[in-house]
Amino acid sequence: MRFNEELKRLKVYEAGKPIELVVREFGIEEKDVIKLASNENPYGCSKKAIEAVKKNVEKMNLYPDDSMYELKKKLSNRFLVDSKNIIIGAGSDQILEFATRAILNRDSKVLMSKITFAMYEIYALSQGAKILRSSCYRHDLDEFYDIYKKEKPDIIFICTPNNPTGDALDKKYLYKFLEKVKNCLVIVDGAYMEYTAYKDEKKRVEPKDLIENFENVLYLGTFSKAYGLGGMRVGYGIANQEIIKNLYKLRPPFNITTLSLKAATAALEDEEFVKSSVERNFIQMQRYVNFAIKKGLEYIDSYTNFITYIFPKEISSKEFSNMLLRRGVIVRDLTGYGLNAIRVTIGTKEQNSIFFEKFDEVLNEY
Ligand SMILES: *Cc1c(COP(=O)(O)O)cnc(C)c1O
Repeated sequence: MRFNEELKRLKVYEAGKPIELVVREFGIEEKDVIKLASNENPYGCSKKAIEAVKKNVEKMNLYPDDSMYELKKKLSNRFLVDSKNIIIGAGSDQILEFATRAILNRDSKVLMSKITFAMYEIYALSQGAKILRSSCYRHDLDEFYDIYKKEKPDIIFICTPNNPTGDALDKKYLYKFLEKVKNCLVIVDGAYMEYTAYKDEKKRVEPKDLIENFENVLYLGTFSKAYGLGGMRVGYGIANQEIIKNLYKLRPPFNITTLSLKAATAALEDEEFVKSSVERNFIQMQRYVNFAIKKGLEYIDSYTNFITYIFPKEISSKEFSNMLLRRGVIVRDLTGYGLNAIRVTIGTKEQNSIFFEKFDEVLNEY
């Protein structure tokens, strides 16, 4: 049996540890485990989404509406773009997969930031493409442009705000870069844009405006973060029709389940839920900032629902996060990204208090 050569360069993506694992491995009761590792919405999701799922739960025997008419229509109203400019994926991850498969082969190159969302590399490598990275963890678009001119990559990934660092680009700065980049697909991943737009209007990127100005840009959004539907797996891509048409060729039929479609459609009717989640997020975020300052810890100013603490050399983030894990607190260690840092999802008020308490405990023991 022979596997594709490309698989040799691939590592399995390490998702945030599930609560069940901590319960099993450390004998901690489920109610005492807090998961601040996958940037999920700690306030749950819209009640309207739950109602919609309950109402449709008996339709499991039927295939979903493959045209996704309702959800596309809602998204089209929400973003003021035509339904023909929209594709829905099982998470925006699936659209990343379509886009990389649509464009890349063994002769291709992709460009991304030194530290960014791990799936870009995985999908690009699986197509045999060469990975080019900028030298700085922030998106230095001047450096991106230099590399672009020299290497002519086939896809450029721009994650704004960036995961796992939380920093975001000014729209003007992004547009100045996009105006100079032709003949190359630019993927603008706005998985946390609801948070960013609330915190700083200058960093808000609207897909309508983006695709009206740039025919080579694919904007990605998701229901997994601010909308609180991570378990339903729904994301969307917005781009000009030529791009969407080509991505569609790679979409398996019925890629979104009926219940997921219903949940996402209903969630769009409840902007109030998103707004209150985002507001509460930044109130709680301030506690994380204050805590870092009090402890003399370096942190990255965040436009998302997570914050990154960078540790001094004397403290290993890997060891530190394992010590937190044994106390029932799951965070994301960033050693694998080349940063001696942890990424912590901003939880509820109560969860965050526990985090600070356990963090202090580990610090004292370290
Ligand atoms: C969470 C996330 C996604 C996609 O999540 P899905 O659940 O697949 O929609 C995409 N990009 C970034 C940067 C993310 O953090």
